[in-house]
Amino acid sequence: MTKIALLGCTGSIGRQTLDVVRHNRDKLSISALSCGSDHAALLQASHEFDCKLLGIADNAAYKKLKENAKNGEEIYVGDEALETLARSDADIVVVAVVGMVGLRAVIAALECGKTVALANKESLVAGGELVKSALSKSGKGKICPIDSEHSAVWQVLNGARDFKRIILTASGGPFREYNGDLGAVTVEQAVAHPTWRMGKKISVDSATMMNKALEIIEARWLFGTTDIDYVIHPESIVHSMVEFSDGSIKAQASFADMRLPIQYALLGEHCAREYTELSLPLSLRFFAPDEKRFPAPSLARAAIKAGGNAAVVLNAANEAAVRLFLERKIKFTDIVKIVSETLDKTPNAPLCGVDEVFATHKQVYDKIYCV
Ligand code: MG
Repeated sequence: MTKIALLGCTGSIGRQTLDVVRHNRDKLSISALSCGSDHAALLQASHEFDCKLLGIADNAAYKKLKENAKNGEEIYVGDEALETLARSDADIVVVAVVGMVGLRAVIAALECGKTVALANKESLVAGGELVKSALSKSGKGKICPIDSEHSAVWQVLNGARDFKRIILTASGGPFREYNGDLGAVTVEQAVAHPTWRMGKKISVDSATMMNKALEIIEARWLFGTTDIDYVIHPESIVHSMVEFSDGSIKAQASFADMRLPIQYALLGEHCAREYTELSLPLSLRFFAPDEKRFPAPSLARAAIKAGGNAAVVLNAANEAAVRLFLERKIKFTDIVKIVSETLDKTPNAPLCGVDEVFATHKQVYDKIYCV
């Protein structure tokens, strides 16, 4: 039986992870659960999966959780709870929280030699170098990607290290065919993703193509290459491809359903599951990206080249700018503009540890958000 600590159990990935465990109860169990503030959903999941180790980020919600938890649950509060749960008695730590807060948990789990099933982009984007060093120090820990694109690459590679380049796919988001003024689009238009149902932040990232930018940086750390391209594939059936040195391109394809990459990360192979079959005829299209209109991925390449604090700055500036957009304080097109300007005016510097990553993140974020 593989024991799972699920960090972020009430979000989209968290709920689908619970569903995967629900369908694989003979192989998987839940040993720890955390959430941000939805104490009722956390308690419900803890009852269903008979899990006694809980973490909750929000202080007010912690009090309510304590009042309602009557089965001898051990409850931790605050961001530190994630680290405690990550170090607990689990084989796999699923990191499905949103934002930088996932970084310490990822490092803690790897230091303990655990497998991290990673759905949190920010920890790898901002702390890629630190995560890599935690991996090599522990010798035992490993990362299994849950992000659909990286799972696709991981499934295709299946351990192979010798390849020419990675080709990520991108749906193109809600504005792929939009001819109007991108500066005038609303929050509602931006969060209406054509294929995936996701949280607001990642939906806006998909609309600006910043999601692909973050995924390029993520892939750089996961697969140890900077040869990473992407194509626009509106059907979201091919989840990514790998080109080998003989010209062969291998792709992973399936209906868009995050439970597939989650299950693959948790079980490590193609185990049976209920799924929607692809019915023929099937028309798949692949377009070159338009980086004039959606320049975010070019910023990611520049950040990879610059190294040091650049990816932290990119990620923090984007988080703050997306928040401003969601609060209707800036235009849609201002998001990537702010990220680009922030990268330009922030001096590049090396980052020495987790504390410095968080300090840099906060400094950049506060400068943009607390205006
Ligand atoms: Mg993705």
